[in-house]
Amino acid sequence: MKSLYFYRITKVWFKYILALVFHYLGVNNFLLKRSKSAYILMLHRISNSDDILNISIKPKNLKTAIDWCEQLGCITDIGCLYGENELNSRFAITFDDGYSSVLKVLELPKIVPMTVYLSTGFIEKSRSFWATYIESLLMKDRIRYIDLNEFNLGSYRLASCRQRRNAILVLNKKIKLLHPSVIQEIINSLEDKFGNSDKNEFLNWNQVKQLSEAGITIGSHTHNHAITSRLSKMDFEQEMQLSHELIEQKLGQEVQHFAYPNGQAQDIAPFCHEILRQKRFDTAVTTIEGGNAIDQDTYMLKRFNLSNERMENPWGKPSKAMFTSMLTNPLSIY
Ligand SMILES: [Zn+2]
Repeated sequence: MKSLYFYRITKVWFKYILALVFHYLGVNNFLLKRSKSAYILMLHRISNSDDILNISIKPKNLKTAIDWCEQLGCITDIGCLYGENELNSRFAITFDDGYSSVLKVLELPKIVPMTVYLSTGFIEKSRSFWATYIESLLMKDRIRYIDLNEFNLGSYRLASCRQRRNAILVLNKKIKLLHPSVIQEIINSLEDKFGNSDKNEFLNWNQVKQLSEAGITIGSHTHNHAITSRLSKMDFEQEMQLSHELIEQKLGQEVQHFAYPNGQAQDIAPFCHEILRQKRFDTAVTTIEGGNAIDQDTYMLKRFNLSNERMENPWGKPSKAMFTSMLTNPLSIY
């Protein structure tokens, strides 16, 4: 256990020292300028609290990241990545799922172009997001053990903080691969045993309207956060239809941008491009890491998952060296 801890600490320091070298020798700047790529940042929640799923960013880190993007180039809307000003690096800022903490962007000193991709089922509150439900359920002190063997997901002791964190991470990885109907069965069974999750972390339509009126682009992330490669073509069409219609109805504007749930290459069904084209989407973003050259397929845009961990130095302060090293990834270790 001790050796694992030392390995982790050494790795953090090793990455940080290399990041300083690449940054201050000008390697990162040189690579950013030479690549002429567009960089898309992927975020989820804005929060100061500890985050087991590693999908939160502190408000002050978000503000700092925005400042750095503006120093390195310009921040544009997701639909204008390849417009004028192509000599500069271009950045787009995106938020997935529709967490209500995204409203904190309205407290920033200046609102820059951003896109929020909604899983409209979470906004409609017809069902909770399974990942959030599992996270809040497993952190409850009174629950010491859960048995999910009927779904072939194993059983978990929840006596310590470490066991709870491990169970959340393991279950997250396993459940996301299942069909939405099976995920719903799991949640129903857990709710029968342990009750409803009392945590409502998602935006409502009035709040979505508020964001849209402030100039933030609203995109689709399916209705049920369904991983497209786990769906039939018809199921995917229904997911898209529902999400598309709801956003257009509630906001009175066209939906032109899409984010694939989970978004790795294996999560994207071959029929997605055809349906996105039929529905006249302009862009679709993945969770595949990297910059986007000018000839990048606009239905396969890459992004960087920006978390506190990736932009902070070992003592928890934002580090521009870590940020630029994440974007250029000189030795493929960031
Ligand atoms: Zn998502």
